[in-house]
Amino acid sequence: MSAEPRIKGWCPGAWRPMATGDGLLVRVRPRLGQLSRAQMLALCEAAENFGSGLIELTSRANFQLRGVTDTSWPSLMAFLVEHQLVSSDTEAERQPQLMLAPHWQAGDDSPTIASLLQARGSELAAMPGKVGIAIDAGKAPVLCDSAADFRIERSMEGGLLVRADGHGLGTAVSDAEAAVEQLIRLTHWFVESGGWDSGRMRRHKAPLPDWAPADTPPAPLGAKLAIGSHPAGQVVGMPFGRATAATLRDLVAPASVTAVQVTPWRRLLVKQRLGQADTAPAVDGLIRHNSDPRLLMDACPGAPYCEQASVATQPLAERLSDLKNSSVHLSGCSKGCARRTPADVCLVGQAGRFNLIVNGSADSTPVKTDLTESDVIAYLESLGAL
Ligand code: SF4
Repeated sequence: MSAEPRIKGWCPGAWRPMATGDGLLVRVRPRLGQLSRAQMLALCEAAENFGSGLIELTSRANFQLRGVTDTSWPSLMAFLVEHQLVSSDTEAERQPQLMLAPHWQAGDDSPTIASLLQARGSELAAMPGKVGIAIDAGKAPVLCDSAADFRIERSMEGGLLVRADGHGLGTAVSDAEAAVEQLIRLTHWFVESGGWDSGRMRRHKAPLPDWAPADTPPAPLGAKLAIGSHPAGQVVGMPFGRATAATLRDLVAPASVTAVQVTPWRRLLVKQRLGQADTAPAVDGLIRHNSDPRLLMDACPGAPYCEQASVATQPLAERLSDLKNSSVHLSGCSKGCARRTPADVCLVGQAGRFNLIVNGSADSTPVKTDLTESDVIAYLESLGAL
């Protein structure tokens, strides 16, 4: 564990697992953001047989398995490939991550564009490892707050547009094929104009080319999927983005479940056969109500899961879930992986203690330092916040 967070600059995958405090972390990207019920059950089996049994859902709508060892990893990969959870092509996951707006249905523009883009994936420029693409072509964009570098969205007029992250406006395109063509061209412009030095589109200061004018506004931001019943099934939350394999297996146990759609909001849409949406069991270990305070909280894995963390974050996060009407961010170090935006209360680990930041991010200046868990609770109680 080092004093300063290390910026790795690449994202782990399944073929490129990342060593963490509790073993290898293996990330699984659901194709079109969805796993069938059989695949979900296989993922749970994989987590228990080859890892620690913990499954996480990331802010880029990927699943990840924790606690995999060097010895179990080869068997895990054979299992994931067999169940079509991972491509056997070891280079496939080097292509940019595609994030789809979660409430797509067959025939919508989003899955159509994703399929077109996947078919032409080899035409995308080779870009830095963290670059991602949001396909957000529902009635209104919903992924604007989620990390992506290039976005295909619905315009105010109802057409499609392609937008480079960091620019409020995009370029109108005629249809799904034109959107994919424009996006591929934009990735080449990004690289040729110094994108490898910038790392991410938001930090890239080169002016957009003439053929990609930023002149078309996206439609107003749509709502996230609310917890509870949904026309396609049920939406549940994973507290702080994690659950045990046993919990998720129970969730998809009913035969009425057909698939699980991932989201970047630590929520899962459990799809069920029409007319059977009310049969999902009330499984412990998941968020079932929109009033659950944990929906306002972000906590990174912390110690012992991340080797850069000097404090455990998850137990304190549970203890702070009574904090009144406040957004809370618990971070094992100043890197602040779990949340990019400021929170009302931000607690950051340093040398085994917590620094307290008010209305800020993990790298903001603290108002209190060197606090134990008990100090944190006592201080917040003294303010009447708990
Ligand atoms: S913020 Fe948390 S997950 Fe990210 S590097 Fe620091 S301790 Fe690890």
